[in-house]
Amino acid sequence: MFDIKEIRAEFPILERKIYDNPLCYLDNGASAQKPKIVIEAIHRAYSFEYANVHRGLHFLSNTATDRFEAVREKIQKFLGAKFNDEIVFTSGTTEGLNLVSYAWGQHNLNEGDEIILSVMEHHANIVPWHFIRQKKGVVLKWVEPRSDGSLPPEDVLKAISPRTKLIAITHMSNVLGSIVDVKKICDSKLTKNIPVLVDGSQAAVHINVNVQELGCDFYAVTGHKLYGPSGSGAIYVSRKRMKEMEPFMGGGSMISDVKRCSVAFNTIPHKFEAGTPGIVGMIGLGAAIDFIQDVGLENIKKHEDELKNYAEEKLTNLSWLSVQGTALEKGAIFSFTMNGSAHPHDLSTILDRKGVAVRAGQHCAQPLMDHLGIAASCRASFAMYNSKTEVDILIKGLKHCYNLLN
Ligand code: PLP
Repeated sequence: MFDIKEIRAEFPILERKIYDNPLCYLDNGASAQKPKIVIEAIHRAYSFEYANVHRGLHFLSNTATDRFEAVREKIQKFLGAKFNDEIVFTSGTTEGLNLVSYAWGQHNLNEGDEIILSVMEHHANIVPWHFIRQKKGVVLKWVEPRSDGSLPPEDVLKAISPRTKLIAITHMSNVLGSIVDVKKICDSKLTKNIPVLVDGSQAAVHINVNVQELGCDFYAVTGHKLYGPSGSGAIYVSRKRMKEMEPFMGGGSMISDVKRCSVAFNTIPHKFEAGTPGIVGMIGLGAAIDFIQDVGLENIKKHEDELKNYAEEKLTNLSWLSVQGTALEKGAIFSFTMNGSAHPHDLSTILDRKGVAVRAGQHCAQPLMDHLGIAASCRASFAMYNSKTEVDILIKGLKHCYNLLN
């Protein structure tokens, strides 16, 4: 049973007051708060179980290595990957996507090859492809969302040409909340030989992901949005694509033999994990995944869908507010602007004084902002611990903004 009071009690920060108001944290799209189980796992790891991993032969190093490697299995199961060695640890989605760009893209893409991207990608799934465009003369082909913010799979498939060598697409937009039917893209005959990379930063927190069912080649997630520590994350890379990749960073752990004039690499996935990793962060991420699975993603989705419907109705009832993104398939993420001259930064600052944390700006999605014809927007993004009362607080805060600014 999903009990919002019990859930909230697991997050110590939710007891905080901000400017004498109860914290109303609606910036989960940027980063989620951490439950006690994650904080305690970090505390325990540093207090009693800390040493470097994969190196030592002593008790603590073995303990830390076991704890660390156990997380790989948790992520494998969480993402539905077939093999444990298809999970590469990263510092977050940004590193995961750069890994694909350098370790796969540099070796498999050539001048004139095309990469299909959606206009609603986060910069993390744009800039690494610009690097390849600049270095190798690859062409970036853009697919625009429809006016409701949806991105139907057929629009992506239509962009495919004989030169298409990669489709890099978000599973859920961090601005519009739109969910992309990745499975339909991967299932198409047209993508049989085209690798599909999915940015799962936003989606994996809200919906059950199974990479085998989706049929994608790469799926990147970031720990801090999954109620885990910042600086932790992972990317699923199918064994098939791993074979096409060369190591991206060199150093300790990723080698099997280093001589003056030769080097041999470790097995997968370690050959893509150079140096000392974010050991405790990953252990914290393991605890976060346990927490999510204890609550149950189905329960989380049901609760967040209720919040989404409630918030959607309330927000669209405000005649002076424009909500960007009303796709049928969307998560509980709302971007909006206030009609007239109110800047989203002003809205965010005024809401903050009421204890309401929202994000304002271009959300690391400038091509989308250009497409929407706005310079910035305000974004309220919900998590499992948010309540309908908090939607009401947001609405009250927005009415206050409107009265102040008009
Ligand atoms: N992709 C999307 C859709 C995001 O929302 C974010 C973070 O906001 C990222 C990628 C980048 O994630 P990180 O900064 O954790 O690497």
